[in-house]
Amino acid sequence: MPQPSATTPHEAFTLPNGLQVVLLPDTRVPVVTHSLWYHVGALDEQPGKTGLAHMTEHLMFKGTKRFPGGIMEKLVQRRGGIMNAFTSYDFTAYFQKVPLTALPEMMDLESDRVNNLILADNEFASERKVVAEERKLTTEADPSDRFFEQVLRKHYSKTPYGHPIIGWAEDINGYTKADAMTWYKTHYAANNAALVMVGDVQKAAIMPLIEKTYAALPREAHIAARSRAVEPIRTAPLDFVKIDAQVQVPVWHTLYRAPSSFTGVAGAVVVPGESVALWVLAEILGGSDTARLHRALVLKQELADDTSSSYDAVRALESTFDISVQPKDGVTLEKILPAVQAVIAELLKNGVTEAELQKAKTTIMADEIYARDDSFTAMYRVGMWLTAGGTMATFDDWRRELANLTVAQVNAVARKYLTEAGRTTAILAGEKGQLGTLKTNL
Ligand SMILES: [Zn+2]
Repeated sequence: MPQPSATTPHEAFTLPNGLQVVLLPDTRVPVVTHSLWYHVGALDEQPGKTGLAHMTEHLMFKGTKRFPGGIMEKLVQRRGGIMNAFTSYDFTAYFQKVPLTALPEMMDLESDRVNNLILADNEFASERKVVAEERKLTTEADPSDRFFEQVLRKHYSKTPYGHPIIGWAEDINGYTKADAMTWYKTHYAANNAALVMVGDVQKAAIMPLIEKTYAALPREAHIAARSRAVEPIRTAPLDFVKIDAQVQVPVWHTLYRAPSSFTGVAGAVVVPGESVALWVLAEILGGSDTARLHRALVLKQELADDTSSSYDAVRALESTFDISVQPKDGVTLEKILPAVQAVIAELLKNGVTEAELQKAKTTIMADEIYARDDSFTAMYRVGMWLTAGGTMATFDDWRRELANLTVAQVNAVARKYLTEAGRTTAILAGEKGQLGTLKTNL
């Protein structure tokens, strides 16, 4: 098994104003990835005001007194760099990848808009139109996305993961400039953010620049603890079946309630090692063409063209363990659930093998070596980990947990989480004939 170093090389510290800083060294090219991650996202939104985190991300490019709107784009372009921003449930993040020589400008611009965003009425109104249009062109134009919005709304009945990151259409059309500015003033602060940089950036060398920019920002007293909403315990599976004439290829997807690295199912305490065990389980069930689902549904029973399973550990709230099946043309969707359940029943009965465990460990470590080589991925992983609730002290714990993981631990999480009561199955067909005996209910 390939063995990368046991920890991610980095320097991490917190400024007196509360801003977290993580520097990841990469001296191979004179380029730096500079990013600022806010501990705020769709997770922090209230019913009726969904989408405000994403809307605010758009507004962050409207400029400040010192730097008018559009100047960052121009500078980054002129320097041959790239920039982007993204909003998810757990975070809102901004990044630029630029030559090292442009880093001082980026730090000046990015730190300035932590507190000094200016927003004109007409700019708010036009940007809201842009966002409403974005929703129409993405979610609303895609039958599968439309469907999953409804499914997630039912699966997460009590937590904010049940509403779309972009927001419900009526909310987008309803909020005001004051809503956005309140959001900005409430959540944007040095002590609610993490600065993550990848490149030739050693603490000693970068500290004077940090002092001039980020360290000068005030600490805000009003930053509140984030939502820890808990999804209630469930006693029966949820099944959703829908027909949408726009569907070209039927969709079959199951998700099981699962803990994240930071929140257990229904608010249970997180058990160390379970996340890594679920990660390995996803690899064994559906990670490759030799995985169990593929062998059973694609090769042996010829019901599907493709199968996969995945698990996302890095989330602030409860997560899911997902299985997806692409049925073969002509196979009715009613046949898929029993076939998947048979694979799972066999796994729960007899357990995974030592050979499967070792193979999964090798694959995961190989992916890790590859991911670490990419500065964007390295930055993204750290930012996600911090905004989901982690610290750099625990960032590499999974390596030890993976190395020590046993067959018994994998079997234990399979039996604990692949349960009928924790299952939500979503089936989307283009026409009735694809369903078999299944009845639509959504
Ligand atoms: Zn957008």
